[in-house]
Amino acid sequence: MAEVGVADRGDPLRDICDQLAGRLPALARLTPEPDSPVTAAPGMHGRAAAAPLPGNPQAFYAYTGIWASARWAEQILLYAVGAAQLERRGGSDANTVRALTEAIPRLAAGVDDEVYRMVITDLARRLNDVLSVAAIDEAEKWRPLGRARRCPRCDCPQLHAALDAAGRPTGHIECFTYDCTDANGYRPAAQASTDEHGHPVLAWADGTIERGLQEAA
Ligand SMILES: [Zn+2]
Repeated sequence: MAEVGVADRGDPLRDICDQLAGRLPALARLTPEPDSPVTAAPGMHGRAAAAPLPGNPQAFYAYTGIWASARWAEQILLYAVGAAQLERRGGSDANTVRALTEAIPRLAAGVDDEVYRMVITDLARRLNDVLSVAAIDEAEKWRPLGRARRCPRCDCPQLHAALDAAGRPTGHIECFTYDCTDANGYRPAAQASTDEHGHPVLAWADGTIERGLQEAA
């Protein structure tokens, strides 16, 4: 892994955190619900249990690694900036995303180089774990639709278009906002299509039809 230059401070950590947060929904889809809540201890980077893991073990390892590292990094940073109280994060993905996208980049601005390097090294290792999950690379390629397009459910510009192996849009679109659900309680997903007049529409899985689109993804 490349040595992280101190002169590079600021953006690389935020970039890594954003990438980890952005991959979390795909990893969660590849990781079946565990029978009991995930209890990976902060800083626990060892190999998992002897029993075979269900589903995709690589994805499970990457997913729980992000979970643990995000909390560990936030605690270390809070300690390093002399916070009176160490916040305890709950176990949800939403909390992991908040730690990654809000707390960690903000706190890291106020710590010395040694702590900063420790945190970014650990999170970069998590990102390597994520990128080595084969299914992420092969089947889970997504292109953000950009700020102009908003999810009809959460009104956030977090819509992503799935790409095929050649990098072309498949017409399948999902909302990546971590707690967004459709009318049926699932992550909102739509297929780009055309109506009876040939105009582009988005047909959402819960039955919502979005018309008046400038361009279907
Ligand atoms: Zn949404």
